Amino acid sequence: QAKRSGKNTYFFFDPRMEEKACSRMELAACIRRGLKQNEFEVFYQPQIDFQSGRLTSSEALIRWRHPQLGWVPPSTFIPLAEETGLILDIGEWVLSQACSQNKKWQTMGLGNPRIAVNLSACQFRKEGLAQQISQTLQQLEMKSNTLELELTESTFLENPEQGMKILDEFRDMGVTVSIDDFGTGYSSLSYIKTITPGVLKIDQSFVNEVINPTNRAIVQAIVTMAKSLDIETIAEGVETQEQFDILHGMGCDKYQGYYYSPAVPAEGMTQIMMQDMKN
Ligand code: C2E
Ligand code: MG
Ligand code: MG
Ligand code: MG
Repeated sequence: QAKRSGKNTYFFFDPRMEEKACSRMELAACIRRGLKQNEFEVFYQPQIDFQSGRLTSSEALIRWRHPQLGWVPPSTFIPLAEETGLILDIGEWVLSQACSQNKKWQTMGLGNPRIAVNLSACQFRKEGLAQQISQTLQQLEMKSNTLELELTESTFLENPEQGMKILDEFRDMGVTVSIDDFGTGYSSLSYIKTITPGVLKIDQSFVNEVINPTNRAIVQAIVTMAKSLDIETIAEGVETQEQFDILHGMGCDKYQGYYYSPAVPAEGMTQIMMQDMKN
């Protein structure tokens, strides 16, 4: 048993091992077991309004506390979870976790915060996604306008026709749609008018080097376009004062990043919210 977990340890941190079917199956089994044994946890990263400096919302980000490995980042297991379909279980779990946590915050009198949840292409592909989400919201007696769903351009572009249908359902429900990692996909800007998202999340790769004139021009173009289309912009991965100042100056609406706070456990987020209420 100890040997087996030793092998798994190796698996996680050596990308070459990912090619091996057997290790992948082990990881899949590990995820399944982890779900049963409550090894997963949802962390929350604050999203801040540039103008007011106030907290507006948070993004739910999954974490895995592996009994042997400690915290395992999502980048190591989300891709495999997507291939194996396990992301469907994970996605459903994260959604209900995040919504019930948000409900708790409301009950605690911490305002009416919005919560953003990542959707994988796999979930988007499966029939009945909107109904499932609507059901979860009903069960938890959550208002749909407190939920934001993040998807990437490529998720949408896999099947734009089906995508349109789902996005219409989300809109009808009153859920906000946001485009994650915006600018990294292959899609043309013309898709934006088709999707008409509520939010564009400017990818970290642009934010990270927003000091560079080319990136700055791209980000400015995104912000200007979004403004004229009445779409909100969020800068992802703001780490420094310099990045903060540039993006603020450009008229970007909100940001998230280590500059303010990394993703933290629910209790940490509660503290941040309580502090924000005092300001
Ligand atoms: P994402 O949705 O684009 O999330 C943003 C990622 O950037 C998060 O990584 C976050 O912790 C990280 N980040 C935030 N601020 C900073 C910063 O200032 N600097 C840097 N370097 N990074 C920052 P994380 O939590 O490791 O998640 C990675 C990706 O895994 C997410 O990217 C998302 O695509 C996926 N993911 C996470 N949770 C879920 C989930 O519940 N469901 C699905 N389908 N995907 C998830
Ligand atoms: Mg996201
Ligand atoms: Mg992103
Ligand atoms: Mg990303």
